Amino acid sequence: MDNKTIAAISTAQGEGGIGIIRVSGENSIKICDGIFKAVSGKSLDDMKGYTAALGHVYKKDEKVDEVIATVFREPHSYTGENIVEISCHGGIFITREILRIIIEAGAYPAEAGEFTKRAFLNGKIDLTEAEAVIDIISAKSKNAARAAILAKDGALWRKIENIKNKLVTTAAHFSAWVDYPEEDIEEVSKENLKTIFNECMFEFNKLLATYDLGQTVKEGIDTVIAGKPNTGKSTLMNLISGKARSIVTDIPGTTRDIVEETVNVGEVTLRLSDTAGMRDTDDTVEKIGVDIAKSRIKNCGLVLAVFDAGRELDDDDKQLIENVEDTPVIAVINKSDLDKKLDVSYIKSRIDKVVYISAKTGEGYDDLRACIEKIAGTENFNPSEGILANERQRTAVLNAKKALQEANEALDIGMTFDAVNVNIEEAIENILELTGERVSEVVVDNVFHNFCVGK
Ligand code: GDP
Repeated sequence: MDNKTIAAISTAQGEGGIGIIRVSGENSIKICDGIFKAVSGKSLDDMKGYTAALGHVYKKDEKVDEVIATVFREPHSYTGENIVEISCHGGIFITREILRIIIEAGAYPAEAGEFTKRAFLNGKIDLTEAEAVIDIISAKSKNAARAAILAKDGALWRKIENIKNKLVTTAAHFSAWVDYPEEDIEEVSKENLKTIFNECMFEFNKLLATYDLGQTVKEGIDTVIAGKPNTGKSTLMNLISGKARSIVTDIPGTTRDIVEETVNVGEVTLRLSDTAGMRDTDDTVEKIGVDIAKSRIKNCGLVLAVFDAGRELDDDDKQLIENVEDTPVIAVINKSDLDKKLDVSYIKSRIDKVVYISAKTGEGYDDLRACIEKIAGTENFNPSEGILANERQRTAVLNAKKALQEANEALDIGMTFDAVNVNIEEAIENILELTGERVSEVVVDNVFHNFCVGK
């Protein structure tokens, strides 16, 4: 790895109380000493790690801003290198200007995720913990943030480390037993091996089972609000999102475009879209909207099928019920504040989750929220045990599990222990890839590709 000193603005670009420019690398302290003067007169180079100094950033002789410089000394820093963090006033111009001055003084602009990549390359964190950093930053709900923070603390890493140790010990024992037959090494028995493989596969299966729920928590559920025109879909969307974004009117068929919003309903994140009213129509533009709505229903994770309590059930409602047959669905009986003309028993005979609501007054919203949480299964979410956070991690675990399955089969058909050991080695390889202990540069680059600059 090259040891260039890198710099970037680490806070969000915009106006804020403070902005932070982070500088990391062997020369970070020297470079910052060239542009910063502490009020106390002390140089940064004379400061211990984890200490801060008030002073000013200078461009030649001109004061640019009053700042606090914090010094971190290797290896006790985020990246494991010397770091200086300059906390300045949080304006777009000031933060960029200070970054420019630092770069002119010899630092290089950091690439996306380069600080975290250095933390990984310097052995401060494993790859799953690095991935957790981006998940913390992009978390949209409490559960997603909690899962990411636990992963950053090594919840998944610890779990994997246990399995890895078991397999590494087995492989080592194996090699010793095969290579040194004259030594008194305990014989490797088929039963022992099977027990170990099964224990590891049990843990792999538990991890794999966390994936879908983890994705639901992290990415949110793709949710479609569907129903014939004028049932109150836009009003429901507005109630849920708390913002008046889609047009609410009394003229049927006005919501033609799909309006999308990411919202938190209790503990669940929904990627919510309001669709065109579903009804038979000859209007070409409206028909396109209806077709899009139908296809979205087929491919989404949850449908909120809206019915109007104040109108009788008609063919459009029945058509909707048919369209949602294969998708998780909640029947939302809206306008429950009106006299009920709707035949709810028919709906109940086809859809088992039914809630009554008035999107206009907000009455019944808590029932809807509870029902959504139940469908999402978030009450069973326990990230402290370690969860698989992305497809890369899932593939590695799947491959490791497959290798152990093959090891089990090899034992069953009476293959030599040597052949079985090849499978164990393969399982270990996959685990090392998961933690990043043995991983190709392409994979590492891919992981950090999605980061923001400054992290
Ligand atoms: P959409 O076509 O399904 O999107 O329906 P809108 O959200 O535009 O609502 C159609 C009409 O129904 C509007 O006049 C809303 O004010 C009214 N509406 C929506 N929800 C309720 C409700 O819960 N109770 C009553 N009484 N009226 C509602």
